[in-house]
Amino acid sequence: MEAVGFLCLGAAVLAWGFLWVWDSWERMKSQEPAGVPGGGSRTLLVIAHPDDEAMFFAPTVLGLARLRHRLSLLCFSAGNYYNQGEMRKKELLQSCDVLGIPPSSIMIIDNRDFPDDPGVQWDTERVASVLLQHIEASGINLVVTFDAGGVSGHRNHVALYAAVRTLHSEGKLPKGCSVLTLRSVNVFQSHVLPSQPAALVSPPLRALLQVHENQLPALPLKPWRVF
Ligand SMILES: [Zn+2]
Repeated sequence: MEAVGFLCLGAAVLAWGFLWVWDSWERMKSQEPAGVPGGGSRTLLVIAHPDDEAMFFAPTVLGLARLRHRLSLLCFSAGNYYNQGEMRKKELLQSCDVLGIPPSSIMIIDNRDFPDDPGVQWDTERVASVLLQHIEASGINLVVTFDAGGVSGHRNHVALYAAVRTLHSEGKLPKGCSVLTLRSVNVFQSHVLPSQPAALVSPPLRALLQVHENQLPALPLKPWRVF
């Protein structure tokens, strides 16, 4: 009788163990966003200005780092609208240090083709050409950038989307290279709905906000769109 009791107990423990493993596996799978390549992917974050990475993409970058992506960053301007380009380039390096992107994986373009200016329309073909060159040279599997709304509506942000959209629609992206765009939110969502309490902001994000404290306050971040 005692032996039967032990057998029942053993079966119960085994069943519990199986269910626990199954539940953990299901939860682990659900944390991986659909359409995002797996660990080891070479992922390129494409931004227009120093501070975009902190204001709009920090949770995305930290999430991809947790998925063991190898991250690099391409910034199309020095953010010189108020003649603070040199300072903002240094801030970008500090910010990337917090995000876990090493200086060797950061490229900041600082030329007349792409001025930090919401009144200037960057040439889509020119942006696309520079971007494609970078994607091919670095063997990029995933590009992360703004969507058609540019999150804040800044024309330079939108120019990046236009370029990557062009590369995608013309079939110029290398085989196996995916794109994620950060979904813009409307004014009600970004300015009327309650924002995240400061105590809930993770330590890396607090550090990032300090790095760029002379810039605009952060906007809420929403999920990605894949194409
Ligand atoms: Zn920007």
